Amino acid sequence: MQTCPYCKEKIYSNALVCRYCKRDLPDMATIEGRSNNWIPALIASALIVTGTAFFAYGFFKERQDWLDRE
Ligand SMILES: [Zn+2]
Repeated sequence: MQTCPYCKEKIYSNALVCRYCKRDLPDMATIEGRSNNWIPALIASALIVTGTAFFAYGFFKERQDWLDRE
């Protein structure tokens, strides 16, 4: 839910037209919602990629040490 910038009534956050004053709402909420959705997704995937890279690096380093010892 969000508040209509014109009449201050509570409306659905994905509403394009206010149901009380029938005004077109600025697309900000939609854009913001979209950007808020993709930023954590991007951070999460970046962390997964970084984590996997570190894990793979650690694994291969460990294996290399193992091979060197023998
Ligand atoms: Zn309104």
